[in-house]
Parts: sequence; structure tokens; C-alpha cells
Amino acid sequence: MNYQGSCHCGHIKFEVEGTLTGAMSCNCSFCQRKGSLMWFVPRESLSLLTPESNASTYEFNKHVIKHQFCAICGIHPYGEATDPKGNRMAAINIRCLEGIDLESVPVTHYDGRSR
Ligand SMILES: [Zn+2]
Repeated sequence: MNYQGSCHCGHIKFEVEGTLTGAMSCNCSFCQRKGSLMWFVPRESLSLLTPESNASTYEFNKHVIKHQFCAICGIHPYGEATDPKGNRMAAINIRCLEGIDLESVPVTHYDGRSR
């Protein structure tokens, strides 16, 4: 399945290849404020349709995750990180994907509880 995504103003556009079976709600100090629902995919499953430099990067704590956001509209469509095995991963904010029914996606909370 191919999903189309973007920030609000369209400065960042992307495609994700994969099967969306669930998302994670993280309660870290950043995600709690942002309210994003994250779907982890291999980085190569994420194809940016706009230049990579269109995204601004925010890092905090140990700087292991690059939180990518649009400096124009302020939306955070995805993040990038490397998992413990050294694989490049992307965390897609599924709220930025088109044509999905958010209510039908099972959400796992950071502490492991399901909704
Ligand atoms: Zn934007």
C-alpha cells in the first residue's frame, strides 16, 4: 500500500510504502505536546517528494531522533532515527497521511497499553 503525506502547507510532501497496522502514541515531553501518532517504517519506505532541505530539524535529549518539521506551517510529518541494530528508520506521523481513517488504526501507548 502506498500512502501520500504532507505537512499542512505542502512545503513537505512524501510517500510511504507499507501496511499500516498500528501506530504509537509516545508520552515523551515532545510528543505529548505535539500529539502525533507514529508509524515506524524502514527509512527506505519513505520517499520525499520535496527536497530534503525543505524540512527543518529539531533534536533534543540524546539527539538520537531527528524530528523533521515544516518551518512554514509548523507541522511535524516525520522523524528519522537509527534503531539499535543500526537500521535507518522513519517515524511517520499518520495524522499527516491522506485518506486514512484515524479512528480505525489501533494505537499503542508508550507504556504498552492499547486503546
Ligand atoms: Zn508546511
